[in-house]
Amino acid sequence: MSYFKKLWSELLNLVFPPLPGCPFCGRAGENGEICSFCRQEIIDFQRQPRCNRCGRAQTGKKLSFSSGKILAQLDRLFNCADCLNREKTFKMARAIGTYEGCLKEAIHKFKFKRQRYLAQFLGPLLADVFWTCPAYQEGQVVVPVPLAPSRLRERGFNQAELLAREVAGALNLPLCSAMVKVRETAPQTSLKREQRMDNLKEAFKVEDPFLIAGRTVLLIDDVFTTGATVGECSRVLTNAGAKEVYVLTAAAGISYG
Ligand SMILES: [Zn+2]
Ligand SMILES: [Zn+2]
Repeated sequence: MSYFKKLWSELLNLVFPPLPGCPFCGRAGENGEICSFCRQEIIDFQRQPRCNRCGRAQTGKKLSFSSGKILAQLDRLFNCADCLNREKTFKMARAIGTYEGCLKEAIHKFKFKRQRYLAQFLGPLLADVFWTCPAYQEGQVVVPVPLAPSRLRERGFNQAELLAREVAGALNLPLCSAMVKVRETAPQTSLKREQRMDNLKEAFKVEDPFLIAGRTVLLIDDVFTTGATVGECSRVLTNAGAKEVYVLTAAAGISYG
C-alpha cells in the first residue's frame, strides 16, 4: 500500500472507527456482539450426544446388547468410560461447548492474552446452561476453582473467579471463595492419567467450611478436560460439608469412549 493510501485509510478509520468485531472469533462488523457463526457452534454442541454425567460430547461409542446385561449397557449408553470409572465426587458437569473452534479461541484470549472483559460474554452463556439444566437449579452458592498464590501473582487474575463472579451476578446467587489452593501443581495435561490424582493430592483446602456447610455448590472452572481438578475440588468441598456439587465450565474436552 502506498504511503498516501495508508494515510488515507488511517484517516478514514479515525473519522469512521470500524465497528468492533465478534469478541470470540474477531469476525469484523459484529458491533461487539457474539456472531451467528459462534452462536451456531454452541447450539450444535448442545445437540450432540453427550455423557449424562460429565456433559462431554461422546464419539466412537460402541454398544453391544448381546451380553444380556441391559442395565450395565444402558449405563454405558448414558455415561462415558471415564464417568463409569470415576469416583462420584460431583453430581454432574456441564459446559457451554467443546474446547475447540470459537470457544477455544475465546478462552485462550481470556486466559493467556489477559482479555478479561471476555468473562462478561462467557458468564451469561454459563447462566444459560444453568437454566437449561433443571438439576442445576438446586445450586445455592457459586465457588470458583482457586489458583495457587504463585500462579495468581504470575497471571494477575484467576480466570475461574472472574467467570464465577459473572455467573453469581447473572443468577443472583452468592459468590463464595471458600476454597484455596495451598500449593502449586504440575499442569494436568503434562501428566499420565494415574499421575493426575497424585498431583492434586492435598492441593485444595476449604478455609471457612461454615460458608458452604449443607449447601449445594456450583463449582466454576474454565475448562473440563479429564475432570480430575473439578473432581478433587468437589471431594474437598463435600468433605468440608457441602451437600452436593454441580460443575459448570466454559468449555469441555471430548470423551472418546
Ligand atoms: Zn464469532
Ligand atoms: Zn462422562
